[in-house]
Amino acid sequence: MNVLEIRNLTKKFDDFIAVDRISLQVKKGEIFGFLGANGAGKSTTINMIAGLLRSNDGTIEILGKNIMKNKRFAKMNLGIVPQDLAIYEDLTAFENVRFFAGLYGLRGSELDAKTREALAFVGLGDHHKSTPDKFSGGMKRRLNIACAIAHQPKLIIMDEPTVGIDPQSRNYILNSVRKLNEMGCTIIYTSHYMEEVEEICTKIAIIDHGKIIAEGSKEQLKSIITDKKEVRIEVKTTEPVDPAEIRKIKGVETVSVQENIIRIQSDASINNLNLILEFLISRHIEIKALQEKEPNLETVFLTLTGRNLRD
Ligand code: ADP
Ligand code: MG
Repeated sequence: MNVLEIRNLTKKFDDFIAVDRISLQVKKGEIFGFLGANGAGKSTTINMIAGLLRSNDGTIEILGKNIMKNKRFAKMNLGIVPQDLAIYEDLTAFENVRFFAGLYGLRGSELDAKTREALAFVGLGDHHKSTPDKFSGGMKRRLNIACAIAHQPKLIIMDEPTVGIDPQSRNYILNSVRKLNEMGCTIIYTSHYMEEVEEICTKIAIIDHGKIIAEGSKEQLKSIITDKKEVRIEVKTTEPVDPAEIRKIKGVETVSVQENIIRIQSDASINNLNLILEFLISRHIEIKALQEKEPNLETVFLTLTGRNLRD
């Protein structure tokens, strides 16, 4: 059975279509990556799954039950870690988790026990008496996660849980995702960080302008681009580089220029490296390094959208 099944989900804000007939299936045991640039429609989708936002069209089922007709069931089986921190600065870490676990239906001694368990799980066991105003960004993010998992939901959705935190907390969170998954939770991990999604997810959907533009395992997504190759050229300055001119070189399909890096994707069957180098040299562009890149999800995204994920 699918833990989550979405059909034709649509959300409009006035005339603007933020989520455009999305259909998705998430199976038990998956770490499902929901990948897309800022503004792609990720949070809007999640807010509809959480029941915080009404859809204009489409259906959402959790464990086979329509969320609109089974609100309590949906709430008990779902844990949402929102993109914007949902914690109270004037409550202690323990009181925060206890409050949210209570909303999800836990009571009495079970409520206290599960609250302690969740705090220990995110590594805040020793801080349960502190208020989050003394916490680092990473600790607040971890508390935000504890609030969503104490009631042991079957499906956990994390919306950009690692934005703006230190690398140590980031690793802690990624490891927590893996551990929760090993414990039997199905996870939807939302991010605009390609590397994270590539690192932990077993299946990935790419959303762009409110539409799912690709879906599959990492291998399946990469197989979209086996006929492409990519070269990454580090130059002293990209100021004199006109991407439109590079695009005219034989075999070149997409070009992106960021800071002092030029990335060129070409048809794999055409050897155009000489032509590219000749072009750069003719424009007096100093080349500092050159690297042929293995295709990764970033290349997939670039191929499908013609843009970098972080543009
Ligand atoms: P993401 O989470 O992928 O960054 P969002 O789902 O937050 O994207 O936003 C998708 C699009 O919908 C964006 O263009 C955003 O500006 C727009 N949007 C989101 N919420 C609202 C709202 N309440 N009213 C109007 N537009 C909105
Ligand atoms: Mg978002």
